Amino acid sequence: MKLRKASAASATVLVLALTATACGGGSGSSDDGKITIGIKYDQPGVGLKKPDGTFAGFDVDVATYVAKELGYAAKDIEWKESPSAERENLIANGDVKFVAASYTINDERKKKVDFAGPYLLAHQDLLVRADDNSITKASDLNSKKLCSVTGSTPAQNVKEKLAPDADLQQYGGYSECLTGLENKAIDAVTTDDDILAGYASQKEHKGKFKLVGLKLSDEPYGIGLKKGDADLKKKINAALTKMVSDGSWDKAVKANFGPSGYKNEPAPKIDAGS
Ligand code: GLU
Repeated sequence: MKLRKASAASATVLVLALTATACGGGSGSSDDGKITIGIKYDQPGVGLKKPDGTFAGFDVDVATYVAKELGYAAKDIEWKESPSAERENLIANGDVKFVAASYTINDERKKKVDFAGPYLLAHQDLLVRADDNSITKASDLNSKKLCSVTGSTPAQNVKEKLAPDADLQQYGGYSECLTGLENKAIDAVTTDDDILAGYASQKEHKGKFKLVGLKLSDEPYGIGLKKGDADLKKKINAALTKMVSDGSWDKAVKANFGPSGYKNEPAPKIDAGS
């Protein structure tokens, strides 16, 4: 009798274990009709988790539109924070179905993930303190303390091309760079202009910072997805194309970049060799 009970118990454990494996299958979508999508949590206008726990930003609107086209209502989306350095891993591990997180398409990343898009063309710029006129071009950074984020293209671009002698500090997220800029531990923050415009226009930062206004690179944003999933890539590209043609893309641009005054480029041609 005792033995029987024990084996029944272990059978239960086995069933539970199998169920857990099946649910956590690593595809970013599950049988319960939910989809997990990676976004940024700390970039106003782009990808932001608000104090009330809801999410807002251009990437959030793009991701929500794409999810709808894939058959998922907004309420079925589970958001996952995707810091710059972790995006490829989150995709490769199947923790997310796709990533829409100010994610520049480039060859290095394409070795690990595939991209749909591009759906926005941003440019690298610099954010400095409002009263600092000593930084007007990239080479001025050579004697300065510059902040960017681990695993991001702007940090790479500075090290390799723009200002190899800059004292580059790499933090985990741009919001940490902002604190440094404000208390003068940092002289400039570099990343995409849409992200910097969002920070500069935040209520708590008003009047403290300014964008230098340099287009230091092209940053075409793509939707990152599992390498080799041609079907998903095709579906996402179709969704993005529809988002532009039915006017939702323009609406999302106005709603999210309007408050920061960010002047975005027109919608890029989708699936142009991404
Ligand atoms: N778009 C750039 C990148 O993908 C910078 C923004 C970011 O770090 O998310 O690295």
